[in-house]
Amino acid sequence: MTRSTVSVATIGVPRIGRRRELKFALESYWSGKSPAEHLLQTAKALRRANWTEQRDRGVTIIPSNDFSLYDHVLDTAVMVGAVPAAYGWTGGEVPLDTYFAMARGSQDGAASGCGHPGHEHGVTALEMTKWFDTNYHYMVPELSDDQVFALSSTKPIDHFLEAKEIGVHTRPVILGPVTFLKVAKSHAEGFNPISLLPKLLPVYQELLRELAAAGVDWVQIDEPALVLDLVPNERDAFKFAYDKLAAAAPDLKVMLATYFGALGDNLETALSLPVAGLHVDLVRAPQQLEPVASLAREDLVLSLGVIDGRNVWRADLPSILDRLGPAVADRPSEHIEVAPSCSLLHVPIDLELETALDADVKSWLAFSVQKMDELVVLSRALSGGRDAVHAELKASAEAAAARAASPKVHDPQVEARTAGIRDAMTRRRSAFLERRKLQESKLGLPPFPTTTIGSFPQTMEVRKARAAHAKGELSQTDYEAFLKKETEAAIRWQEEVGLDVLVHGEFERNDMVQYFGEQLSGFAFTKHAWVQSYGSRYVRPPIIYGDVSRSRPMTVSWWRYAQSLTGRPVKGMLTGPVTILNWSFVRNDIPRSQTCRQIALAIRDEVLDLEEAGATMIQIDEAALREGLPLRRSDWKTYLDWAVESFRLASSGVDDATQIHTHMCYSEFNDIIDAIAAMDADVISIETSRSKMELLDAFRNYKYPNEIGPGVYDIHSPRVPEAEEMVHLVKLARERLSDAQLWINPDCGLKTRKWEEVRPALVNMVAAAKQLRVAA
Ligand code: GLN
Ligand code: ZN
Repeated sequence: MTRSTVSVATIGVPRIGRRRELKFALESYWSGKSPAEHLLQTAKALRRANWTEQRDRGVTIIPSNDFSLYDHVLDTAVMVGAVPAAYGWTGGEVPLDTYFAMARGSQDGAASGCGHPGHEHGVTALEMTKWFDTNYHYMVPELSDDQVFALSSTKPIDHFLEAKEIGVHTRPVILGPVTFLKVAKSHAEGFNPISLLPKLLPVYQELLRELAAAGVDWVQIDEPALVLDLVPNERDAFKFAYDKLAAAAPDLKVMLATYFGALGDNLETALSLPVAGLHVDLVRAPQQLEPVASLAREDLVLSLGVIDGRNVWRADLPSILDRLGPAVADRPSEHIEVAPSCSLLHVPIDLELETALDADVKSWLAFSVQKMDELVVLSRALSGGRDAVHAELKASAEAAAARAASPKVHDPQVEARTAGIRDAMTRRRSAFLERRKLQESKLGLPPFPTTTIGSFPQTMEVRKARAAHAKGELSQTDYEAFLKKETEAAIRWQEEVGLDVLVHGEFERNDMVQYFGEQLSGFAFTKHAWVQSYGSRYVRPPIIYGDVSRSRPMTVSWWRYAQSLTGRPVKGMLTGPVTILNWSFVRNDIPRSQTCRQIALAIRDEVLDLEEAGATMIQIDEAALREGLPLRRSDWKTYLDWAVESFRLASSGVDDATQIHTHMCYSEFNDIIDAIAAMDADVISIETSRSKMELLDAFRNYKYPNEIGPGVYDIHSPRVPEAEEMVHLVKLARERLSDAQLWINPDCGLKTRKWEEVRPALVNMVAAAKQLRVAA
């Protein structure tokens, strides 16, 4: 008996284009170099290419409306008419420039006097934040307590029709109403956007009716909020919403898509909704296959997210089939779809472009289009039996076996070293108060010591030199001479301004993770494997494929050079293990925690080499520690335990008198303050200026004992703060912490700023510290 065919769905695909066409078209439009028409044509061509490519590769359920010029959450806000008053929109279709003003702010926006510094004549962008636990950032919809919604965009319908014109019947994707409200925010005190659901649903109902009228038979509605911890009224919101949606368009079938984790305690809710299909993430949560398959209604179409949409590894197809086989045996093929765990938006597009990648490493990878091919093989195996795709399955299994056995992946020395990690290696010799005495006498700093976070402006000149060096147009010697000149100028300049603790400026670094990854073994770098971080900003995360080790010092010569120029202390400057891990594509053959420990040992060696070279202060940045928090609260402790342990492993090898700094560029510490304290850094610099020091309450309440540099100057804005403002901020800090704990520094590194902004701001910052010392 031949079964009918198992469908192949992609859930969503990257929008940016193999050659970053979307980025270039956007930036050209924004800079006024090309008209809107050019941007819109480019976008249309990208959509068309995505549709035909999926069709040609054998994908049978092809999404539309997964494309976005900037961000799909922003698209949704615009679609439901949630455009804050500041953008001057008065109804009707939202103009392109209003859309981009919401995304990026505008200098000549309709609004003025919005109150945000630096934007007196324009309007600021919506806030941006991470999309669940991905490195994709979405624009946070801003809703008022008297929000009015109205269907204000026909994009889902237009794109469906656009695909139809070229003969591709698509399944439009829309962001579900509950997740939309859950990721939105409101300025109204104590107001929860979820309460707007009854007002929002009519817009979704209207949309679904219009989609049905346009000929849509299936629609994918994304509700990733179903993998979060929900309170009872949020679960009820799902029931309420989907009953209403089902009633609005009874013939339209809904594929409810969940991803990024297990449904867990929301499974019952998900299965009770009146939808025709359910997509589940079986990569993050393979254990939910069994319960989902056995509890789901017989006629529910299951979309099985078995190919990793969040990582770059090629799948082991036979083992996926082994796992799927029994669970799907009883369900008719037409009620099964195979899919990536989530939209392929989060992986690069095409591995074939990577012609310079190590051949073995390349043979272990699959990017978006390769993942489509894998799905097609799975579908053929499930529909027609494994023999039909014998060769493909064999190749897949062989690649998996080769990877598992490869000496490029396994380094017995590294594995022995991590196995030998002892508790004592994760503890400083003495407690903080002991260390502090030694550090005080060794360093002899004034009260309220001043410093910066590490980087100085990456000027056009610096970037040009780096690019020329990378292309081979600037020799190693000339490049180094250039960097030395920049470093020296930065040191001289910091001395002149009167900073107490100096930095070398990080001119030699392309990126705070890449710089280290390129010098560590076990890391691979790509040329074209871009993924969208936000809007037109894409990143190429390193790929950690093997055991990580360091063969030689990575930063010591730059530190030594900088320190040779001055009598003041220069901080050694490193990126921490958790941040390197969280901003990379990580191995899936060993636990993340294990890779993190390996990186920690490499950084530990670097710390010790810096100390040996004479560094008295070493900063280990953990910018991404908080963003690695799991989506479910119950998983936090395990993560924080190994993350903190890794930081301590990296930092604890030094003498008591060596001062360890860390830096974190965020401002929410309330819920992780135990972990922050457990890191036991002698000094932590954090982002606080925008929150007016309120977040220091967490440190005060905890009675945090170590030293803190609460950022007194917001480096995210070009605005130069006056000394008085900074004194005022420190005053707020002094209400919460003791004077002896406080350092004076900016919020974050200064690489994105211009020298014209940095100079006066730091002059003012030093003046502020002097005022404080006189008064103290
Ligand atoms: N030392 C880094 C810098 O100043 C820290 C950046 C960060 O944490 N984002 O650029
Ligand atoms: Zn920072």
